[in-house]
Amino acid sequence: MPSSARRCSKRLPAEQRGDEPRIFVLIGPGGAGKGTLAAELVARVPSLWLSRSWTTREARPGERERGAYVFVDRAVFEEAVAQGRFFEWAEFLDYLMGTPVPEPPAGSDVLLEIDVQGAEQVLARRPDATVILLLPPSPEVQAQRLAARGDDEEHIRRRVELGRSEVVRGAKIAAHTVVNDDLSQALAELTAIVERTRTAAPAPRTRRNPDGPRPPHAHGPTN
Ligand code: 5GP
Repeated sequence: MPSSARRCSKRLPAEQRGDEPRIFVLIGPGGAGKGTLAAELVARVPSLWLSRSWTTREARPGERERGAYVFVDRAVFEEAVAQGRFFEWAEFLDYLMGTPVPEPPAGSDVLLEIDVQGAEQVLARRPDATVILLLPPSPEVQAQRLAARGDDEEHIRRRVELGRSEVVRGAKIAAHTVVNDDLSQALAELTAIVERTRTAAPAPRTRRNPDGPRPPHAHGPTN
């Protein structure tokens, strides 16, 4: 039993609650630091499992070695879509990204690090999912972070532009917003959100986000 469960009987991951895993969804524009924070969060929070996405884009340097994604070509991805193997998937810029139907270890909750289209699909399937919007502290820092991981100028320009609409759309479905100015501070905030959510009873989405749009009920790209 994780130490958090020993400390507080109500703060329970899925196994001790005896129900479905909770789903946490981290969204935000490119350069917000989602990937780094998602990895740090699962390393720090007991019984939280990070889903590994599939993508049709080319691997960036070091990504294959890190196991960042399952890299497949479009035909393989589309075949998996046809077989219903994705929990959600979306076209992002000119490539496809998808979350396989989650199979976390027994007792673990699920963390997804995905785009806003995917988060809308997750909410359509699991209205109780907790969506967290992560923001970069400024457009300048955002662009610096994108450049640092090797994206070319055109890609950075498109990501920053797309990021603006992602923030607007993401704010409508997010239960929480965290600004990633200082990594350890952002990590502490995310940890607290997960712990508080585990303690609380699931809230109907309509109460949590009365002004948000209804999520799409179809799978796949929503743009
Ligand atoms: P990147 O190319 O920077 O790795 O990812 C592009 C965008 O796709 C990011 O916003 C990232 O969070 C998102 N993403 C990563 N995996 C998935 C996924 O499985 N599904 C969806 N919908 N988006 C994903």
